[in-house]
Order: sequence, then C-alpha cells, then structure tokens
Amino acid sequence: MTRSSDDPARRGAWPVSASRPLVHPIQPSVVYVAESPDALDDQYEGRAAGYAYAREGHPNASALAARIDAMEGAAGGVVTGSGMAAVAAVLLGLCRAGDHVLGADQLYGRSLRMLRDDLPRLGIETSLADATDGAAFAAALRPNTRIALIEVVSNPTLRIADLASISEACKAKGVCLVIDNTFTTPRALRPFEHGADIVLHSVTKLMAGHSDATLGYVAARDPARTEAMRAFAITAGLTASPFDCWLAERGLQSFALRYDRAETNAAALADHLAGLPGVQRVLYPGRADHPDHDRAAALLGRRGGTMVSFEVAGGRAAANALVRGARQLAFAPTLGDIATTLSHPPSSSHRGLDPKARAALGIGEGFFRVSVGCEDTETLLADFSQALEAVAGR
Ligand SMILES: *Cc1c(COP(=O)(O)O)cnc(C)c1O
Repeated sequence: MTRSSDDPARRGAWPVSASRPLVHPIQPSVVYVAESPDALDDQYEGRAAGYAYAREGHPNASALAARIDAMEGAAGGVVTGSGMAAVAAVLLGLCRAGDHVLGADQLYGRSLRMLRDDLPRLGIETSLADATDGAAFAAALRPNTRIALIEVVSNPTLRIADLASISEACKAKGVCLVIDNTFTTPRALRPFEHGADIVLHSVTKLMAGHSDATLGYVAARDPARTEAMRAFAITAGLTASPFDCWLAERGLQSFALRYDRAETNAAALADHLAGLPGVQRVLYPGRADHPDHDRAAALLGRRGGTMVSFEVAGGRAAANALVRGARQLAFAPTLGDIATTLSHPPSSSHRGLDPKARAALGIGEGFFRVSVGCEDTETLLADFSQALEAVAGR
C-alpha cells in the first residue's frame, strides 16, 4: 500500500524559492485551497485577499486588469473572455426590461446585432443614431434611455464621433455613456477624461496585439456599476482564462511601442495610397482631407490612429485582384495584429447589409480597411504599390 503522501493521485509540494520569478507565472488552477471555513469567510467578506474559483477571479486576470486600469485611469476593471463578453456585461448586466439603449449606427457588427436581436427579445428597447451628428444623437435620447453606446472612431469609414456634444447631452439627461475604446485605445483617447461613464475594450485587438488571445475589459467610473457588471460576468460565465490573460499581459508590455510604430506607418501609408493610381479615395483621420479632421485633431491630438481605409476603382474585380496581388499582406477580418492585415468590409464585417445600405455608408465593392502593423515602413509601402500594380494589370 502506498503511503498517503506518496499517492500519485495527490499533488506534492511546490518547490520553494527565496527569489521570485521576473515574469508573472500562469496560474491555471480552477480552484483554490483555503486554510479553513473561517479563512474563506474572510476572503469572501473582503477582510483578506484571495481567490476561490477561477470563474470568479484569478491572479492572471487581476494582473491584466490592473495594467489596463492604469492605462485608462480606472479602478477595479473586469477582464472578460472576449470584447463581446464586455459588451454583454454592460448591456445585460446593467439594463432591465423597459429601458432603452441608444447605439451609434456604425458600431462593431456584433454589438449592432445584440442591439437588434437580443435586447428587444428581453424587453429592452433599442435604436441607433449617427454619432458624428451630436444634435441628432442627443435628439434620439429618450426619457427611458439608460445607456448610450458609441465608438469614437467608426468602422470601417473611420468617422469621428461628436464626443463633446454626446457627453454633454448624456450628462444632462442622466444617461450612462459607454465608450468602446478598442480602435482608439488609451494611447490616443482616455474616455473617462471626456465624460464617459463606462469604458470597454476588445483586448483581443491592439492591446494584446498578436492575434493569439481573445479577451475583453470593462470598467465604470462608479464602482457600484463595475461591481454589478462583475457579478453578472461571473454568473453568466463571461470571465477569462488564465492563459489568455497571461498572453495579453505579455502583449501589453509592448503595446505603446507597437501603437506608435503602427500609427507612424498608418500616416505614411495613407499619404502613399493617396498618390497611387487606381485609389479613388483614402480615409485617415490624420489627413487634412478627412471629413472629421478637426474633430480628430481635437480628440486624438496630432494622432490619426492605426487604421486606414481606402477605395480602389473597379469594384469587386479590382478588390479580388488587389488581395491576390498583395501576397505579403494577410487578408483577414481583424485589427490590431502586430503585422498589417487587410479587410474587405463588403465580404466580411458588413456583408449582412444590403448593397444600398452599404452604399449609403460609402462602402462600395472596392472598399478596404487596413489595420496597419509594425513592419518596416518602406517594405509596407512597397507591398501596397505591388498590390495596386496587380489591380492595374488585371
Ligand atoms: C472586435 C471588436 C469587438 C468584439 O471583440 P471580440 O474580442 O472579438 O469579442 C468589439 N468592439 C470592437 C470595436 C471590435 O473591434
């Protein structure tokens, strides 16, 4: 008979080290062993720090949340298993039947779907308004509007929301203003400094930055709201895995460097594209010909962001030729990767809209959105020249 302590089904002791690891360890444990029922009481009642069950919290989520809190000027933010889990934590964790949610009409596609399909099913009214038109957005607020959800830079036309007017109207009417800061990131804009009540992120994108972790984040200025969202996220199982949090924390260490490099590249690419034959128009908030250039300068400083959109003449055939000709550029519907990715909204994010609705948004078949990465600038510009040559030679 094996001695109890030798039984391989039991875990042995963990090696002791007087020094600590430089890198935060991944702590995948689903459950934590407490000293006693009294000790567990102390934890649950806030007299002692500690974890009990991973869905409720774990060190890798806490470490990641603390880093993003610091960047956003938040406290106690909640890390979620995806950006959409953060959206769900806000909308489902804070609204009740009879409330109204007002969304910007160019939100991320799945956020639009939650407003269109899911909230009404639960008795929550929803409607959309143009966030670039502050007066129209304010006029769409209703007496029962609980939440207004906007993104400051819209996808994929990169229009800039009239944040000052929207924030003022929300404050006057007691509406909770939620900003999805995925595109802008705290490197360009800190929403709490512009009147936001809640900030959320798809950490999957620029913050984690390597397209290998799916995560979100949400924090409210009012701690009671943050706690309500945390409680809902735990109950509904929206929380994140330790491994993804660990990857994102690692990615975040180079976030500022990556962002600045990508932004420099984006500005260069926008100017380069504008001079290439076959390019009908370029949309970049940092360019003087952008429709919201002044607002972009006021909100984002001299920064124009890491996204560039453009339209190539020749419709779908030209779009196919461009993607085939852009051998070095990944054609993939995401953003924020360390390398440049090319997305074609009419066949991906905006395929659910009929062509007329897309045309109204200015998204023709030749429309592309580029998430600019950290490549060598000259190499990147040459890749786009080559892609446009392929279009001309088709
Ligand atoms: C990707 C994205 C989301 C959703 O994030 P996931 O991590 O994919 O769930 C939400 N908002 C914006 C602006 C996004 O780009």
